[in-house]
Amino acid sequence: MRVLLLLASLAAPALAFASIDEYLLAVTHDLSPAAKDAVQHIDGQPRQLLAVRGYLRAGRQLQSRWSWSAEEIRAYEAGQEYRDLLSEIATVRARFEAANPGYSLYANTTARSLDLQLQRWNSNKSVGVIADRLHQAAVRELTAYPAHPDAKATLRFADFLRAWRPVPSAAPLAAPGLSLHGRSRAIDFQIVQNGRIIAPTEVAKVRSVWEGQGWATRLAAAMRDSRFAGPLQSPNEPWHYEYAPRARAVGVKE
Ligand SMILES: [Zn+2]
Repeated sequence: MRVLLLLASLAAPALAFASIDEYLLAVTHDLSPAAKDAVQHIDGQPRQLLAVRGYLRAGRQLQSRWSWSAEEIRAYEAGQEYRDLLSEIATVRARFEAANPGYSLYANTTARSLDLQLQRWNSNKSVGVIADRLHQAAVRELTAYPAHPDAKATLRFADFLRAWRPVPSAAPLAAPGLSLHGRSRAIDFQIVQNGRIIAPTEVAKVRSVWEGQGWATRLAAAMRDSRFAGPLQSPNEPWHYEYAPRARAVGVKE
């Protein structure tokens, strides 16, 4: 008996471990086709896992939050909502310039396409670091799982992904497809002096420039009573504001 058990454990080590590939595939199975397709365009399992975590956390909102296609962006830019956005930015800029003579605001108003979000997700270093941490945690988690994902184990792994929290702070990018920039619901503002950007959207400049030189506070002051809410707290991005469009009877399709 003892010999048989020993033989079994020697023969089966490859099968005894739950494979992260299989589990990743299992939790991806019920995502929307667009999200599944995005996963295919993400480099490496750690970044894929981190994106899938974002998709699972979005839950039912995945579809309504999903970034516009190039065609949808064009339609949006031809419509009233876009004109409203531009005029709201102009108001904020005028207020900022009046309070800070010699300085202005630059805002990129082009919605961030899925392609661009994928490109950034695949190349961003902080995303890579957080993705590796999640991957290590997932490998540890799966040691207690059945070798092949059944329905129950798949749900359990999905729960694990949803509950996992990045340390020390959130990834600097939303999972590809889920950026609020993908539907022009978020705008990044930068501080300009003589046509030169002096406070850029760089994590390394948050303390030294945005906070140290007071731009975070001055930008926030210009946003008061506007349709922009923010800035983003986690991660700390003093330049990132969410835009609430005016409610309209007929808008861009959700
Ligand atoms: Zn942003």
